[in-house]
Amino acid sequence: MTTTDTHGTPHSGSAAQHHVSLAETATAHNYQPLPVVLASGEGAWVTDVDGRRYLDCLAGYSALNFGHAHPRLTAAAQEQLSRLTLTSRAFHNDRLGPFCRDLAELASMDLVLPMNTGAEAVETAIKVARKWGYERKGVAPDRATVIVADGNFHGRTTTIVSFSSDPVARDGFGPFTPGFRTVPYGDSAALEAAVDENTVAVLLEPIQGEAGVLIPPPGYLKAVRDVCTRENVLFIADEIQSGLGRTGTTFACDADGVTPDVHVLGKALGGGIVPVSAVVSRHDVLDVIRPGSHGSTFGGNPLAAAVGHAVVELLRSGEYQARAAALGERLRGRLDGLIGRGAVAVRSRGLWAGIDLDPALMTGREACLRLLDRGVLAKDTHGSTIRLAPPLTIEADQLDWMCDQLSDVLTQEGS
Ligand SMILES: *Cc1c(COP(=O)(O)O)cnc(C)c1O
Repeated sequence: MTTTDTHGTPHSGSAAQHHVSLAETATAHNYQPLPVVLASGEGAWVTDVDGRRYLDCLAGYSALNFGHAHPRLTAAAQEQLSRLTLTSRAFHNDRLGPFCRDLAELASMDLVLPMNTGAEAVETAIKVARKWGYERKGVAPDRATVIVADGNFHGRTTTIVSFSSDPVARDGFGPFTPGFRTVPYGDSAALEAAVDENTVAVLLEPIQGEAGVLIPPPGYLKAVRDVCTRENVLFIADEIQSGLGRTGTTFACDADGVTPDVHVLGKALGGGIVPVSAVVSRHDVLDVIRPGSHGSTFGGNPLAAAVGHAVVELLRSGEYQARAAALGERLRGRLDGLIGRGAVAVRSRGLWAGIDLDPALMTGREACLRLLDRGVLAKDTHGSTIRLAPPLTIEADQLDWMCDQLSDVLTQEGS
C-alpha cells in the first residue's frame, strides 16, 4: 500500500495528496470522490499518480463498457481528431450519416437525434414526446403529462430534477417544471391507473441504476409496453446506463422481449472518450421535430459520430453482449455467496450488480474505501449499497479476484 491508509486517505506529501488538495480548493464540491488520483488506464485497469494499479469496477458508471483506451475506439478518435472535429449542424459532415444509420439499425428503429450528454437526450425525449402528444395524439395545449417512476435517475437538469424523488437532487433548485406524474417502480397497475387523456409518455429505466440496480418484477416491462400501446402513450426507455451491452443484451429491454417507442442512449455510446447521446425512435415520433425546433452546437459532431460509430461496430458483433451474459452468470454465482456474509441482498443482470450491505457492518462508502485499499474501484449508492459495473472487457480471473476482495472486505472486519 503506497498511497492510502486503511481509510483511503492519501499520505501527506504524496502526489495524490497534492492533487486531492488542489481539487478541493479549486472545484465546486458537487462530488465526494474516493481519495485516489488516477493518471492512466488500459482495459479494465487504471493507474494512480503514485503508480498503484486498480481494477476499475465502476467503469465511469457504464460509460466505459469497452474499458479504457479500447484500441478500436482510440484509433477511431485519433483518426478523426486530425481530420475534422466540429462542423456544427449548419453543415453536413461525412461521419454523422453512417453513425446514425447503423445506430438506428442496431436499435431496430428509423431515426437518430444526436445529442451530447445523457441529460440532454432525456430532455430531448421529453420535448419530442410533448410535441408528439400535441401534434399526433391531440392533447390540449400545455396539458401533456409524462409518467415517471419513483426512485428514478435521469440526469441533473432543472426539468429532470423536477421529477426526481431524491431530496438531495431537488432541494433548493425549484421552481420545478410541471407535467410529470410519479408512480411506484415495478407496479404496472399503478402506472395504468395514472394514465389519462393527457398522458403522452411513460419514461422509465428498464433497470434502475442509480437507485441500486433495481430490477423490476418479471413481466413489468411487457405490461408497461401493453398499457402504452393500448392507451396511445409513448414508452421511452432510458437505457443510458442499462443499454449497450451492460446487461448481456444490446438493450436491457431486449431480455424481456420488449421494444419501447423511444430509446434514450448515452454513456457507453461515447466509448468513454467524448460525450455522445442519442434519442432513437421511429419516423412517426421523431418527425415532429423540424428545422429550428431543437438543436445542439456539439450534437452529432464528427468526432462524436466517429467514436459512436466505432461503438456501434463493436456492439454489432454481439461479442460484448455475450461476454456480459457469460461473465454475469459467474458474477452472480459469486455474489449470491455473499448473502448472509456481509450482504443482505444482491441484484444483478449481466455485468451490473447492486449489493446491499448489512448496515450494521459498514456503510457502502466504508466498503468502497476498503476495496480501494485492495486495488478495486467501486462506488456506493444510497448509504449501504455498492454498485459494480466493470468493463465488459474484464477477464474471468480478474472478475474472480474482484469478488475475492469484496468477500474479504465484508468478512474481515476492520481489515
Ligand atoms: C447517467 C444517467 C443519465 C444522465 O447522463 P449524463 O450524461 O450524466 O447527463 C440519465 N439517465 C440514466 C439512467 C443515467 O444512468
